[in-house]
Amino acid sequence: MKCPACKKPMIVLELNQVEIDHCAFCGGIWLDSGELELLLGNLEKASSMLNSFAVDSTIAEKKVKCPICRSKMVKVLCGPERKIVIDKCASGDGLWFDKGELYDIVNDGHFGENSDTLDFIKEIFKNSIVK
Ligand SMILES: [Zn+2]
Ligand SMILES: [Zn+2]
Repeated sequence: MKCPACKKPMIVLELNQVEIDHCAFCGGIWLDSGELELLLGNLEKASSMLNSFAVDSTIAEKKVKCPICRSKMVKVLCGPERKIVIDKCASGDGLWFDKGELYDIVNDGHFGENSDTLDFIKEIFKNSIVK
């Protein structure tokens, strides 16, 4: 799969049998639909997180295309105080997190901590080419 942001081929990382597509060049992460749930290991937490995502069509940030269906993704506000903007496939293929965004979202105390996942995400960024 190609990175939706910089078009470089992404690498596949695995955590708890969840395959995560990661771009080592820009530090972005693609999660297929359902992978956030698996990653958090807690359906309730994941669905409250997903339900907290609010689509905002007024955000001017550059739109990126879904790596699966190639349609432009929608901007979604999430994370602590809804200050993080992520990209979501309108057809539900998955979610795109720019560098650091997934960490900030998972690190949001509101959803409780999942230290394994956080450690793993930290690890990903440590190995990224772009710091
Ligand atoms: Zn990239
Ligand atoms: Zn899509």
